[in-house]
Amino acid sequence: AEIEQAYRALTPRSGALFARAGTVFPGGFTRDAIMRKPYAAFVTSGQGSVLTDADGRAITDFWFNATSLPLGHAHPAVVEAAERQLRKGTAYFAPTEHELALAELLIARVPSAERIRFANSGSEAVMMAIRFGRAFSGRPLIVKFEGSYHGSYDDVSWSVSPAPERAGSASQPTPTAESAGLAGTDGRVAVLPFNDAEALRSFITAHHREIGVLLVEPMANRIGLILPDDAFLREARALCDQYGIVLIFDEVIAFRVGYHGAQGLLGVTPDLTTLGKIIGGGFPVGAVAGRADVLDLSSPAQRERVTHAGTFNANPMVAVAGLATMSALTPEVFAGFEATGNALRKRLSDLCEGLPLQVTGAGSLFKITATGTTIRNYRDGATANYAWESTVSLALLNAGFLMTPGLSGVISTATTQAQIDAFIDALAQIIAS
Ligand code: PLP
Repeated sequence: AEIEQAYRALTPRSGALFARAGTVFPGGFTRDAIMRKPYAAFVTSGQGSVLTDADGRAITDFWFNATSLPLGHAHPAVVEAAERQLRKGTAYFAPTEHELALAELLIARVPSAERIRFANSGSEAVMMAIRFGRAFSGRPLIVKFEGSYHGSYDDVSWSVSPAPERAGSASQPTPTAESAGLAGTDGRVAVLPFNDAEALRSFITAHHREIGVLLVEPMANRIGLILPDDAFLREARALCDQYGIVLIFDEVIAFRVGYHGAQGLLGVTPDLTTLGKIIGGGFPVGAVAGRADVLDLSSPAQRERVTHAGTFNANPMVAVAGLATMSALTPEVFAGFEATGNALRKRLSDLCEGLPLQVTGAGSLFKITATGTTIRNYRDGATANYAWESTVSLALLNAGFLMTPGLSGVISTATTQAQIDAFIDALAQIIAS
């Protein structure tokens, strides 16, 4: 209550804007992703690693638009590319050389990518990847994992954050609707425990005639920002090969863990990869990349083709900003993220030593989960004391640092060592108090 009172005192203008928002947005929100209590700080600008909020406070950003700004806010190269394009028009309903260049860059980097198609969000990319996967395999059922978030498409909005006591057994979870208004799962979606090679094998062996798509987030963000066991991913690849199931890696976030994405880091190549966030340089984006024989199903030469239209697909603003961003993300930058991320996670682990707290993450990503349980799957992560996490997150915001209410964080190339030091000092004080 004290922390919330302090927050309200620091952010009166955000409080007033939130009250106004309540008259136009349901509950004051138009994006679920920022449903912070009592309200999120409204932002007026972002520069490098610092946001300025509506009350004029400087906030060091450790979330960077949900991990989508690897160069920070308003990076000069991105601003320059976008400004130049802005003056030439923002969308043409015609292809540009920029989209071609971004496509070529991504195909060169993503091991599974021979072809690519752009969309406007990660959610759309997942929706299209599933459509391609079902068309290629000729089978309707999607297998996803409990606790994995893949965006807002209906067929993946199952068992993202179910109450464990209402979600069946840990080894055979009951698909649980994440939203009102979904059609049933019947023949469309099955849910399995993450990181359990045995459960995966037994389910696929029994049901392979119906399974068209296996959808995996190779860095499971919502489960607890963990990388899966090697054996689990290798088993997934082997089973998909054996039964002709299309293996999709959702790398909308995970792509930032390495120059060649999570698949490069983990050494397992999917059939399709969904991308988003960082590849758009701060503009709305999604993409599905993968095997030519799968994605070529959308070629006009196909008799029964996969359709995929979109007014703003690969629009030139996204293409130039994405290209400027991705070109700046050299192998050296990824090595820097890895080194800084490792040092940061080590300091956080030292800080959390002896407390019921887990520090996870890879590359530029880090997370603190308030549980004494080592996290290997959703049920482990769901033991967390979320109220503690969100209180700590609000106290951090009072001190001028933005993480998610679940204490997920990320660094960008604009993040300085001094900011990391100040953040860790603030966190140490909050945890101690
Ligand atoms: N897939 C994953 C793994 C994500 O983390 C997200 C968004 O956070 C999405 C898909 C959806 O992307 P978008 O929010 O751009 O629709």
